[in-house]
Amino acid sequence: MSILKIAKLGHPVLRDVAKPVPVEQIPNAEIQRLIQDLIETMREYGGVGLAAPQVHRSLQIFAVEALAGSEQSQRKETPLTLLINPVVTVTSERMVEDWEGCLSIPDLRGLVPRYQEIRVQAFDPGGKAVNFQASDFPARVIQHEHDHLTGKVFLDRMRSFESLAFLNEFNKYWHQNHE
Ligand SMILES: [Zn+2]
Repeated sequence: MSILKIAKLGHPVLRDVAKPVPVEQIPNAEIQRLIQDLIETMREYGGVGLAAPQVHRSLQIFAVEALAGSEQSQRKETPLTLLINPVVTVTSERMVEDWEGCLSIPDLRGLVPRYQEIRVQAFDPGGKAVNFQASDFPARVIQHEHDHLTGKVFLDRMRSFESLAFLNEFNKYWHQNHE
């Protein structure tokens, strides 16, 4: 396994629409290796999610994981979930605002509205179809990562840039007020 280089905002790969993975190719060594490298890279950099375009591979694959002890863990623990060709359907029109950051946009945080409840249909790393409901923090992370597959970043979803803050200033002025 390897830790991969992360594409930063401005790299055109982050604005491309990612291609679906042909389902019969999911077991292929190349895809399986990419899956393992995505997970390893996400953990190395302390991300709660990482999408293939963020490691310069324009494919519809992403990982999410938030464990106890991470920055976001007080909200909800999210076990490792690896999704291929995900389709996200909004199941409640209700939106909630919360803070997001992104490994491709280092050291920035901003308030982003997301749907509170979604349904996800996708394939897992074994090529098996999965279908589940997600709400709150896991739903937020899935929507953030799914956006990466359509060439969007969290800045595109912000209602206003007034909350945009560098990490130091976020920790100093904002963090405590939103626990
Ligand atoms: Zn991101």
